[in-house]
Order: sequence, then C-alpha cells, then structure tokens
Amino acid sequence: MAKKQFQAESKRLLDMMVNSIYSQREIFLRELLSNASDAIDKIYYKALTDESLTFNQEDYYIKVIPNKEKRTLTIIDTGIGMTQEELENNLGIIAKSGSLAFKRENEVKDGHEIIGQFGVGFYSAFMVADKVTVISKSLHSDQAYKWESEGSEGYTIEPATKELVGTEIILSLKENTDEDKFDEFLDEYRLKAIIKKYSDFIRYPIKMDVTVS
Ligand code: ADP
Ligand code: MG
Repeated sequence: MAKKQFQAESKRLLDMMVNSIYSQREIFLRELLSNASDAIDKIYYKALTDESLTFNQEDYYIKVIPNKEKRTLTIIDTGIGMTQEELENNLGIIAKSGSLAFKRENEVKDGHEIIGQFGVGFYSAFMVADKVTVISKSLHSDQAYKWESEGSEGYTIEPATKELVGTEIILSLKENTDEDKFDEFLDEYRLKAIIKKYSDFIRYPIKMDVTVS
C-alpha cells in the first residue's frame, strides 16, 4: 500500500518524540487520554442538541488494555471517532492549539523543554511505540478506517472493521534495551499510577482490561 508522507513540521515533531528522554515518556498517556476525553465531549455536546442521539452516561468510557504477550498497549474510547478525511487531516498535519504553540517556540527552545511545557498531542505516542495503529469509526460514517505509522517515514490509511463508533489506538511498544524498559507501560500498577496522576483532565471513567496470558 502506498505510504503517505507527513507534513514537514509533523515529521520534525515526530522525530523529536522518537528521541525523547526517559523521564518525559509517561506523558504520552496523558495526551492520549485527553484526546479520548475530548472525543467523548464532542459526542456528548452533539447529543445535547441532536434529538436523534441519546447520551447514556454508561456508554461513554475510556479503556486501557495492556497486553504483555503482544507487547501492545491499547487505548479505546467511545467518542465521536474520525472519518477517513479526519484521520488524514488530524493525524498527518499539525494544525492544532498545542502544536501551534510548539511551532512558535520551536526556534528558541530545545526539544526537551518543549515536551515538558506544551501538550504535544498525539505524536507523543511515538515516545513509547515504534508502531502506532489507529482504528476509528466516525459517528458520521458506516465505514471504519485504519491509520498506521512506524514513525516519520509516513503512514497508511485503509478501510477496517469496527463495530462501535469511537477510536482504538494500539501502541506496539518499543523493544527494551539495557537502559530503557518500555515494558513498564504494560504493568498495571505503573499504568494505574500514571492514570491517577493525570486523571484530573479526564471527565469519563477509565477502565482497565488486563490480559493475563
Ligand atoms: P490537540 O488535542 O491539541 O488537537 P492532538 O495531536 O492531541 O492535538 O490531536 C490532534 C487531533 O486528532 C485532535 O484535535 C482530534 O481532532 C484528533 N484526535 C486525536 N485523538 C482522537 C480520538 N481518540 N478521537 C477522535 N479524534 C481524535
Ligand atoms: Mg490532544
């Protein structure tokens, strides 16, 4: 399948994420959880004004699923989802708030300070993952799509199967090295601690599924 190229700024930010220092890595979870929460907000506010939609509180949640065997960490939300175009525009191009601030400050600050100061968003997934897969089904589409990238080389988009509206982000964690143990992000206690630290930003329940084998 043809690989699409990231916009130049996206590629730069992505490279910075890939080479991030150890102490900042856990913020990827804050970023992905806040995106999930934003996506649920969008469906919630739609339901307030659109009578064809009903908002049942229990249908809206975020799920975090570590899989030790596959070495994946999956974050699922039941938010508004993304169409094919939205996957393309939102994940391939930097145009959003936090990222704009990043672009402005980029000239005067070094990368590590930037990561600490701004919401660096979706690309922070590449701090811990060498492959990121996003399967999403928009409220406005019957067809789901899969976006996938192994970093700054580009990404692919193809049709996929997904029953529920919302988004599933599968992080294939980087290989452990002597200094870096990415397996910490498969440990449920470590994950709980990170989630707790950042859950102030999250307005919906966060569930965790643990696959034992
Ligand atoms: P920001 O959150 O500041 O807009 P991000 O890089 O975190 O920037 O996300 C970029 C965009 O991708 C979001 O604005 C949103 O449109 C889309 N997006 C990311 N994650 C999700 C998600 N889980 N569900 C729906 N849309 C999402
Ligand atoms: Mg965000």
